[in-house]
Amino acid sequence: MIRDNIELVRKSIEDIIKKPYEDSSVLLLAVTKQKPISAIVEAKEAGITDIGENKVQELVSKMNELGDNYINYHQIGYLQTNKVKYIVGRVKLIHSVDRTALLNKINDRAKQLNLIQDVLIQINIAKEDSKSGIYIEDLEKLLNLADKMENIRVKGLMVIAPFFEDPELTRPIFTKAKEIFEDIKNIHYNNIRMEYLSMGMSHDYKIAIECGANIVRVGSTIFGNRKY
Ligand SMILES: *Cc1c(COP(=O)(O)O)cnc(C)c1O
Repeated sequence: MIRDNIELVRKSIEDIIKKPYEDSSVLLLAVTKQKPISAIVEAKEAGITDIGENKVQELVSKMNELGDNYINYHQIGYLQTNKVKYIVGRVKLIHSVDRTALLNKINDRAKQLNLIQDVLIQINIAKEDSKSGIYIEDLEKLLNLADKMENIRVKGLMVIAPFFEDPELTRPIFTKAKEIFEDIKNIHYNNIRMEYLSMGMSHDYKIAIECGANIVRVGSTIFGNRKY
């Protein structure tokens, strides 16, 4: 079933970008939170290369069980500064960096380990209180700071759109995110490369890709609903 769902999602990605998934620049990031190890194994066998988790404890436990080189791991959820030490150097990308204290912590830990950690900056376009992410007017300041940090590389932006029954209504948010992404691309930075625009989940990933997302984070459409 997981394999069939992955096939369907890939097919719909191909329909939008009009080329084979393998030849596209879109990464299907399978979100495995609250799902067992067996689901990750099944997803990998169906071609998934990258998985995302939103809780550090769950992520670390899965990494320990499967091994760091089994698959690429991504931290996509809110990250507390005191949890940073458990994941720096072990995850391909931290999607949820949204404040100075967190940048500092990641940079310090990466320096300690003598490596460079790739991160995305999470932006909160709709200014939803219920979601983390930096407001657009504060973004430049954070980027300027990040640019001076030698053990962090900012690789792009992450967005969680507000939930609308009709996913079409998220289009203005995603379009805005793409504009900001392109604007930053045109600024000269040393440590910032706008490569990844991580936006779109099960409900709205098709719209996100149409708007320029190149990482989509899809959970329930692949693995079934979670119990909250
Ligand atoms: C859970 C989660 C997803 C995936 O959500 P689905 O609706 O199950 O696809 C994507 N991004 C983040 C940050 C999440 O926490």
